[in-house]
Amino acid sequence: MLNVERGGSAYGARLITDQPIRNGEVIYTITGHRVVHTATYQTVQIGIDTHIEELGVLAYMNHSCQPNTIIDTKNLTVVAIRDIMPNEELSFFYPSTEWEMDRPFICLCGASQCVRLVAGARYLSIDTLERYFINEHIRDLAVEALDKARIAPDAVVRQSVGVERSTHA
Ligand SMILES: [Zn+2]
Repeated sequence: MLNVERGGSAYGARLITDQPIRNGEVIYTITGHRVVHTATYQTVQIGIDTHIEELGVLAYMNHSCQPNTIIDTKNLTVVAIRDIMPNEELSFFYPSTEWEMDRPFICLCGASQCVRLVAGARYLSIDTLERYFINEHIRDLAVEALDKARIAPDAVVRQSVGVERSTHA
């Protein structure tokens, strides 16, 4: 069973399991949620412009840069990505679902590879994102952002060619 422990962490509350969970086990299936089109600090993003709220105990699952679960937004499940002991806190990597967060924060997870500023995937490098399970809508948004970034250097080259021409004229 999953329990909410209030005042249990730097973030105010945390979600803990009272039973051992095996790597790969589906811990929770999201049901009874509501679909919205704006991110709030209580929503989880499940598509390019789709977010869900009213998530029950999941609302208390904190971020970690070394998480023990993933939220699979295609199947709407929470899955263990390692064995979890009783009384351990459950966590997931917020940028694996969130492109741009409503309330960014400084992470205190203590992991050696902590990303520090948790503001959504758009603020992380591809190298950092590659270390994690990332949902498809985040991959799509990252590819889109890279495509846009590729246009920028061309614009700079065209501009400098223009300058050269005017110099030689
Ligand atoms: Zn961290």
